[in-house]
Amino acid sequence: MFENLQEKLSRVFKNLSGRGKITEKNVKDAIREVKLSLLEADVNYKVVKEFVDHVLQKALGEEVLRSLTPDQQFIKIVRDELVRIMGEKNEPLRLVHRPAPIMMVGLQGSGKTTTCAKLAKLLKKEGRNPLLVAADLYRPAAVDQLVKLGNQIGVNVVHDYNKTPVEIVKEAVDVAESTGKDILIVDTAGRLHIDEEMMKELEEIKKILNPDEILLVVDAMMGQDAVNTAKVFDERLDLTGFVVTKMDGDARGGVILSIKYVTGKPVKFIGTSEKIDGLEPFHPDRIANRILG
Ligand code: GDP
Repeated sequence: MFENLQEKLSRVFKNLSGRGKITEKNVKDAIREVKLSLLEADVNYKVVKEFVDHVLQKALGEEVLRSLTPDQQFIKIVRDELVRIMGEKNEPLRLVHRPAPIMMVGLQGSGKTTTCAKLAKLLKKEGRNPLLVAADLYRPAAVDQLVKLGNQIGVNVVHDYNKTPVEIVKEAVDVAESTGKDILIVDTAGRLHIDEEMMKELEEIKKILNPDEILLVVDAMMGQDAVNTAKVFDERLDLTGFVVTKMDGDARGGVILSIKYVTGKPVKFIGTSEKIDGLEPFHPDRIANRILG
């Protein structure tokens, strides 16, 4: 992950290192390289522009030009800016109701169903008592997949092929209340592409569920397509955040570095493996450190 970006940035930093002093031209050259690296990593161009403007402003300050370790100062500025565009700090789930509904949405293949189970496992580990709800009736195998995963982690799954998604959700709320579950994680229908029928179904479920969280699951490998998808979902559903999956793959960084800036909504979790415990809370500073190697 981030190999190209890492390599490019480290070359920029190497060019600055060993110099007792740096000039404005050195800084500008370095920033141009940073800009190209980010564009190559598939970061949204608006994000790149803002990033570059900020770094330029800070790096041309007296402090860097006069510093005895200008390369270190420059790296720090880049690092701080990476953290800032990813949202500064971890944004935890805001669960207020009991049971607290979490609605999971996303396109097919993004990792939505797997993420529902991963999240249930994570919350269970924190001492919560979640219930999974299989309301993705569009992809026939999704229900069986969730039931199987539920069995694996010891979490009940509400499912019924003969009901509509809305009926299943209503039933699940009753089950949660009568069995003392404190969280409902609802797997909703995906599609290969955004379509009106899916959005209407999701809006209907949202109305009934009144979720504390609506998380869009996006695949890091999809690059700016994922960011555009995020914008459309957010406009329709007013999301509370994102889960970016497949961060263990060779994603270039475009999604994780753009999505917060473009939508204003935070990444709350990242998927880090196919395994059931491959889900972590998202910490911008940790990712920035990883990018900088
Ligand atoms: P859905 O169609 O969105 O419900 O997608 P699935 O949950 O079925 O996931 C699609 C594929 O992505 C499956 O093979 C998952 O194992 C895989 N997957 C999901 N999350 C991750 C992740 O964080 N890392 C990796 N490597 N694979 C993942």
